[in-house]
Amino acid sequence: MKKTGLLASMLAALAISAAPAAQSQELYWATSGYFGPFNIQGLIPTYPKAKDITIPVSMWILKHPKGIVVFDTGNNAAISDGADNCKKYWAAGSCDFLKPSQKRSDVIDQQLAKLGIKVDDVKVVVSSHSHLDHSGNIALFPKAVHVYQKKELYQGYWPEKFQGRAANGTFVLNDLVAARDYDFYELDGDYDLFGDGKVKIISTPGHTIGHQSMKVTLGSGQVIIMSQDAVWMQENLDGYAAGLNFSIQAYTNSLEKLKRMRDLEGAKLLMAHDKNQFDSQGGNKWQK
Ligand SMILES: [Zn+2]
Repeated sequence: MKKTGLLASMLAALAISAAPAAQSQELYWATSGYFGPFNIQGLIPTYPKAKDITIPVSMWILKHPKGIVVFDTGNNAAISDGADNCKKYWAAGSCDFLKPSQKRSDVIDQQLAKLGIKVDDVKVVVSSHSHLDHSGNIALFPKAVHVYQKKELYQGYWPEKFQGRAANGTFVLNDLVAARDYDFYELDGDYDLFGDGKVKIISTPGHTIGHQSMKVTLGSGQVIIMSQDAVWMQENLDGYAAGLNFSIQAYTNSLEKLKRMRDLEGAKLLMAHDKNQFDSQGGNKWQK
């Protein structure tokens, strides 16, 4: 009797401790190497003085009870391990300006492996936009559902002239073409990914025509907004507008939308390319 009672209470305790784990979400902040150092004014022409910056290339890995989600896949694996490799896949100008330091071990498949996750176990890959440092490795995920804003795909395949149409420019055509036959879920606006309100895709156009950000509620209740390129870095929050926009008006509206969300909801706004924030607020770590 006593033994059975003990077993029952042990099982009950296990059930209690297992319950929150099944509900909770965990979010890991990774970087596809770094860019730089280069003058911030190359990216933010409105910034009043020259200064050199080095920036992370943010990627996110989310464990949700319904499956694993990757938000952005970083720079293509082919540019890893030096400028010579970079210039075989990207335009030389991109390699010379951005100075990517990515090693093969920084690429998303290796980052997942370090966390004990296989690429084929990733259920959904959400890409913020089609630029070279965000959609670089979608081809590594043939089994996932790929989520984009539909017009971002149009633009990735055929950018406006002012955005540059070189097939190896800021939109690298081969990044997209290599995944052309995959399963794409093409959105038009905001979307609640698993229908539980905990993983929301937020339309934030401006940097590109169909840029999207993501908002996640962690197991702790903390809400995290991953802006990606809707807000590159603190200097943009300080009021210095980013360069390279598809539409400066849409960019400004999207920045305002994310700041309002942060303030009204008490959320944390984590940016795509801010090294101070990456180092001080949980880069290369699980978010709590
Ligand atoms: Zn970027």
